[in-house]
Amino acid sequence: MPTNKRRELLQAAAAIAAGGVANPGTTADTTMSIRTMFDVPDTYIPIAGSAEQFPVRRIYCIGRNYAAHAREMGSDPNREPPFFFQKPTDAIQIVPPGETIDHPYPTLTKNYHYEVELVAALAKGGRHIPLDRALDLVYAYTVGLDMTRRDLQRAMGDEKKPWEIGKSFDHSAPLGPLQPAQKVGHLKEGAIWLKVNGQIKQNANLNQMIWSVAEQISKLSEAFELAPGDIIYSGTPENVGPVVKGDVIDAHIDGLPDIRVRIV
Ligand code: MN
Repeated sequence: MPTNKRRELLQAAAAIAAGGVANPGTTADTTMSIRTMFDVPDTYIPIAGSAEQFPVRRIYCIGRNYAAHAREMGSDPNREPPFFFQKPTDAIQIVPPGETIDHPYPTLTKNYHYEVELVAALAKGGRHIPLDRALDLVYAYTVGLDMTRRDLQRAMGDEKKPWEIGKSFDHSAPLGPLQPAQKVGHLKEGAIWLKVNGQIKQNANLNQMIWSVAEQISKLSEAFELAPGDIIYSGTPENVGPVVKGDVIDAHIDGLPDIRVRIV
């Protein structure tokens, strides 16, 4: 936890324990441990070739970032500012390369969709990041799935209600271990595809993104202060579609290990 945030929490806790209100002037011992009534698990992503794990702070996802996908979702692709939504960090499901991981078919949906996406993981943050410095924030990349209860997402969209129930549910963010950019480079072009039961469904190129990863970071940082631990799902190409129990999804991006899940 960042020191300032920790100090704030400790000051508030000390004041409340003393029967008063939080006083910003109170000095708090930041080495003091915070006692909690139960543990809430943190979320980490393994890093390929490292004993260290990547702690996840926030998951940002960009919507309609490939022109053909924007059209299939019923909107006009253009260079209007990108829009973002979030998933909770505990939606992450780790998919080690070379393994087939069981992915639970969620409740409430009859139209459960895959979306293959390049995921960028940030080890630096900031506000108002200029485009030419944006990729300095990216520590690593991986292949991710932005799993979607499409029927619920559409119904909420039609009613101008939030998308959470369609996008931000348990296990909705499968992804592979992080591949450091120092090793794999910054991925700007290359095939991105997804197969269901060995049949190609999505097939595009990273260079078809409307907003590049660097542009996404720059735009995001105008709305939010980015921080180490933030990850960004950079959007899916066209031909999203449904899966049912028993289906096996293979997801691929050139330069990264494939991931595979079985819907159960
Ligand atoms: Mn998506």
